[in-house]
Amino acid sequence: MAVLEIVKVPNPILRKAAEKVKRFNRDLEKLVLDLAETMYSAPGIGLAANQVGVLKQVAVVDVSPPESPKNLLVLINAELVESEGREELEEGCLSLPEFREVIGRPSRIKVRAKNLKGEAIEIIAEGLLARAVQHELDHLQGRLLLDYAGAIKRELYLRKRKKQIKKSGKR
Ligand code: ZN
Repeated sequence: MAVLEIVKVPNPILRKAAEKVKRFNRDLEKLVLDLAETMYSAPGIGLAANQVGVLKQVAVVDVSPPESPKNLLVLINAELVESEGREELEEGCLSLPEFREVIGRPSRIKVRAKNLKGEAIEIIAEGLLARAVQHELDHLQGRLLLDYAGAIKRELYLRKRKKQIKKSGKR
């Protein structure tokens, strides 16, 4: 297992749609373990493969509080099949340092996905878990929190990021 570097805006890989996983093998297992370790060390409650530079439909989510036991959800080739309700909540993103946005999303969802063995699984989620899963599904389609913000806020943030990158000399 390894903690990987998290890719940040404006890296173009964050804008690309991830491809479906076809091989359920050791490489996939390693990717999932690395994603989980990277997420826990950040710390964050979700991480999509795009965010470590891998364009595969893989994401991990764990919304359990830091002091309670881990409860890792692995999402492979996940698809949102049902959603209901609506809830406004502030979100942040490990790829968007210092950016926060209040966005409305369905409060209860049903997702079909595969587990590490390639078996079909179904997840029904609500509250924070539903929120985190939808955030990761967005990533896998190249969509970011920025897209929910107004044009001015988005532009100002991107300008600030460019300045930060210039200053630090890295992304
Ligand atoms: Zn994110």
